[in-house]
Formats: sequence, structure tokens, C-alpha cells
Amino acid sequence: MSNGIGKKRIAVFGSTGSIGRQALEVIDANPSIFSVEVLTAQSSDDLLIRQALHFKPNIVVIGDEKKYGVVRDALRAEPIKVFAGETALEEVAAMDVYDMMLAAIVGFAGLRPTLRAIENGKAVALANKETLVVAGDIVMQKALEHKAPIIPVDSEHSAIFQCLVGETRSRIEKIILTASGGPFLGKKPNFLVNVKRDHALQHPNWNMGAKITIDSATLMNKGLEMIEAKWLFGLQPDQVQVVIHPQSIIHSMIMFEDGSIKSQMGLPDMKLPIQYAMGFPRRLPSAFPRYDFRKPNTLTFEEPDVKTFRNLTLATEALHKGGNLPCVLNAANEIAVFAFLRNRIGFLDMTDLVERTMQELPFIERPTISEYFESDGEARDFAASLIKL
Ligand code: NDP
Ligand code: MG
Repeated sequence: MSNGIGKKRIAVFGSTGSIGRQALEVIDANPSIFSVEVLTAQSSDDLLIRQALHFKPNIVVIGDEKKYGVVRDALRAEPIKVFAGETALEEVAAMDVYDMMLAAIVGFAGLRPTLRAIENGKAVALANKETLVVAGDIVMQKALEHKAPIIPVDSEHSAIFQCLVGETRSRIEKIILTASGGPFLGKKPNFLVNVKRDHALQHPNWNMGAKITIDSATLMNKGLEMIEAKWLFGLQPDQVQVVIHPQSIIHSMIMFEDGSIKSQMGLPDMKLPIQYAMGFPRRLPSAFPRYDFRKPNTLTFEEPDVKTFRNLTLATEALHKGGNLPCVLNAANEIAVFAFLRNRIGFLDMTDLVERTMQELPFIERPTISEYFESDGEARDFAASLIKL
């Protein structure tokens, strides 16, 4: 797991994003434990260059090939290899220069490099939930074959993972994923129809990338997380429950077969699950702010309003039916969120777009990996064609 000087070598895929930047903060605070071997970005060349000059990785990759020259020139004086393009991401993931990939690319784009890391037998700290939503069966099977541990970074799944430590012989009755409810908790369609991009981008508890922030506002994020949980923990669909917990202090819970419930708690700060995944099996000390039970606190729980936030219903359908349906849901959702962020469609249109795409695309019960890629492409094309009308 480590190089000659005993550090865990981390490849941060998506280093310029919200998760990537926080992972680098964790690494900076633990220089004797982690080293940065790979940094990747899509188009944020300035930040990638600054990160590279600070962390001196072995390799950087810029997805956008037009930016290759800028990055290469800026790092010319350094012993850092610079690559560009989508295939370079996969090639680097297949190299033997790191111990753990932090998979923090957003969306379907994260799937191929993550698959490569798994085939390479590397540990994966998985933030990119879309990887499991799209092709969870194949990803988990490959992880088993190649003995590649997948350690969740998503806070809910990290909570479940932490609650499972020491429970090797226990049977899970169900898991309870907590959801903050996002900025529009309690709102109804007559309000949501007028919601604009900037309002939807303001999340009450978490500061995240644009895509997941919109997914949180529509509750699609929780839908994706239900599917992610099914694969990560080998659950049946009806063992996954969602409850609204607006304070985001309980990050999720397991109810075991004896009725006992374990939860993992803490102030909402993604650095904690990131650090736990990177440090696993060690729990590392941190200076993150602590939750204080002596202060007046109220922790509340309620059922999600699935009539208003229909994305949860669509994701539940995909969770139960399986096959290529979660992949189709994810692709249509990526197109919908992209269009909403560009003010091309309204807030409620996002759900309609996903629903119509799920109805339109042919169902495949046991897709191969290439069929997943095809379903993704076809669902994107269909969803995009609805926007042009
Ligand atoms: P961001 O949008 O903040 O960052 C995404 C990262 O991926 C950036 O480094 C970006 O580069 C890169 N990227 C974007 N598109 C591509 C592409 N097509 N090919 C290669 N790289 C690309 O996202 P987040 O950090 O918020 O989220 C990352 C993942 O983690 C998502 O899957 C999300 O669901 C998950 N997650 C995030 C949480 C959070 O708190 N943010 C919580 C739980 C899960 P560039 O900067 O150049 O665009
Ligand atoms: Mg989450």
C-alpha cells in the first residue's frame, strides 16, 4: 500500500473540484501519511498548475486537450509528466504509480478511469457515485475479481461503512439514508416551478460542486445514493430507506436484524469522510469543528415528500428494476441538470425529462459494459432532443 518512504500515494482524479480540493487539504494536513502522485482536471488549468507546483505530483492530466500547452509550459521546470485528453485519464489510472485513487470526477465521465483503477487492483476512495449508479453490478464484480477495495466517500455511505466495522457476522435489516431535504424542503410544485438556477445552487448545509448541489435540491442525489448503497453493501432494494433529517448531523444509519440501530454522526464536513476513506483502516486525528451535545440541539426526522420531489420515485423505480434503467436515469439527469444550469429548462422540467427518457429507452436486463455505454449515449441524445423542441 505504500512506497519506499511509507506514505500512501494518492491519485486525485478531479483534483480541482469541491471533493478534490478538500482531499488536498486533508493531504496537506497529513504530509507524513499521504503523498500526491496524480492530479487531474477537466479545464481548470490555473488551479491544476497551482496544485501541481504545491504538491509536486508525478503526473498531471488536463482533460481539455486545448489546455495542454499552457499546463506543460507552466510545469516545464518541474519533473512532472503532463498528459491531456480523455484517454490519458484511463491510461494514467492503469499505471502503477499510486496506491489509491480518489475518484472525484463528476458524472459519467468518472466511470472509465475508475474502472481502470479497479482493473489495476488499486484501492478506490469513491466520491463519484455515478460510477455505481451506471454500472454497479460490473464495477462491484470487477472490484471482487481484482481485489480492489472500494471505500465510500459519499457521507451517507461512509456513515454506513463506519457502522459496519466489526459487524462481519451481523445481518442488516435495512439502512436508513438521511437527506437534508435541500433548499426547497417543504416547498410544493407551485413554488418549484419558478425556481431559478442561483436559488437552487444555495444548499443549506453543504458546499459542493454545481451538479450535486442541483441533485440535492431535486432529491435526485438521494435517489442516486439509494442505488449506490444497493451495490456498495449488497442490499435488496427494499432494504434501502430514505428519511429527511434537515440538520445533517446523523449521516446515515443501519438497523440490524435485532432492531438495534447504529448511526455515524458529526458536523457536516466532507473532509471527514474523505479523510476516513483515504486513511482507512486508520482513523486519523483532525482539527475539524466538533458537534456539541450540550448546546440546544434538535434533531428531526420526517418522510420525504415523494409526490413533490418525484425524482425519488423515479430513482426508486430504477433501483427496483435495475438493468440499464439507473444508467438511463443518470444520463438523462446529467443532461437535465446541465440544461437547468444554463437556464434552458425549468426546475420541474428536469424530472419530466428524466421520466420521458426512462419511458422511451429500451430496457436491457443484464447489460454488458458496452451496452451501458450505449444506453448512456442514447439516453443523452434522447434527453437533449427533448430540450431542443
Ligand atoms: P465538482 O464539479 O466540484 O468537481 C468535478 C471535478 O471533475 C473537477 O476537478 C472537474 O475539473 C472534473 N471534471 C469535470 N468534468 C470532467 C470530465 N468530463 N472529465 C474529467 N474530469 C472532469 O464536483 P464535486 O467535487 O462536487 O463532485 C465530484 C463527485 O463527488 C460527484 O460524483 C459527486 O456526486 C460526488 N460527491 C460530491 C460531494 C461534495 O460534497 N461535493 C459529496 C458526495 C459526493 P474542472 O475543475 O477542470 O472542471
Ligand atoms: Mg451524499
